[in-house]
Amino acid sequence: MQEVSLYFHIPFCRRRCGYCDFNTFAGMNHYIPDYVKALCGEVEIVLSQAPEKLLAHTIFFGGGTPSLLQPEDFGRIFASVRRSVDVSGNAEITLEANPETVTRESITALYEVGFNRISFGMQSASGRDLHVLDRQHDNLSVLNAVQWSKQAGFKHINLDLIFGIPGQSLESWRQTLELASRLDIDHFSIYSLILEEGTRLKRWVDRGLLDNPDEDLAADMYEFTMDYLNQMGYQQYEISNWARSEEDQCRHNLQYWRYLSYLGFGAGAHGFWQDTRTENAGQILDYIRLAQNALQANFPAGPAVRQVNRLSLWDLLQENMMVSLRLTQEGVSNLELKERYQVNILEVLRIQIDKLLRQGLLESVEHENRLRLTRKGRLFGNRVFAEFVGNPNPNDLKN
Ligand code: SF4
Repeated sequence: MQEVSLYFHIPFCRRRCGYCDFNTFAGMNHYIPDYVKALCGEVEIVLSQAPEKLLAHTIFFGGGTPSLLQPEDFGRIFASVRRSVDVSGNAEITLEANPETVTRESITALYEVGFNRISFGMQSASGRDLHVLDRQHDNLSVLNAVQWSKQAGFKHINLDLIFGIPGQSLESWRQTLELASRLDIDHFSIYSLILEEGTRLKRWVDRGLLDNPDEDLAADMYEFTMDYLNQMGYQQYEISNWARSEEDQCRHNLQYWRYLSYLGFGAGAHGFWQDTRTENAGQILDYIRLAQNALQANFPAGPAVRQVNRLSLWDLLQENMMVSLRLTQEGVSNLELKERYQVNILEVLRIQIDKLLRQGLLESVEHENRLRLTRKGRLFGNRVFAEFVGNPNPNDLKN
């Protein structure tokens, strides 16, 4: 049986935060019932066409703000999933939630409907930062959300944090980490703010209303984070992710970083099945219109697909390097890639790998059988990943 991960995109938000460029929409919550129906249809159509028996071992609801759906909505979606595919007895089932959208009762109901991991967008403990980011919550709502989740029975709780916010100081970032780590949760996802084109925050910075984030300061914050969380007992296992122990790592995201198959459902959702990438229609109404037309589906593409992309073996290998090098402990295994692609990466990517080893951005471990980022490589990850984009195929790899 083939293990697979399922991703559900919930593109609704109460209002759009100033820094956000995700596929998400405000003011459309009245479409939620139709959207849930469309998701149920899509999942049943796609999974019923799978060429082999599948076992869902992780399910992830991301957004947007998935916590805007009612627990009964998730119950309906889970029923559709279980009608179409086996779900592992110990499947990790994650919900992304905004702290201001949950209550003690809703969190209990979410646990009872089947979620066992919950992830809150905390972002910062500073009211000033939250104001700059245009977020709707405060620290009290984060504290409550975490307490209620523990009381409901959630063993796996993640907080998302952001550093490199305009005007943020190292001391204020330290206070955020201190408060967050006092909440005694098992996982952190921590990202450097990126000013995305077309966002309100980018316009404010461009007009001089806010300072441009300082890249050197952001690098100091990242280094501080690595040391601080290490002291607090968290292990970094991915360039932006820390867990208390191996069993607390996010298994759904590990599926992405290990470059394994996942299917995406919902507006704008992406999927990856063996050598094929899919992307659904991004607009909510287009998605709802398309999602239940079984005649349009051709696994792994579902009825609402707008793009299907088959990758060559060479593209797969390069992308695999780029994605898996994000794993700061595991890195990439030469032996595993040899089994997957029938080539030795130390030969076909020798020039790129040697250069990164010389620059101290990569290190080889286990007698060259594994490559991973050094501490410096984590800071300059983008330089490392760029080495595995667009290299000419050495002809060792035939499709
Ligand atoms: S809540 Fe999240 S997805 Fe929604 S607008 Fe804010 S950052 Fe974007």
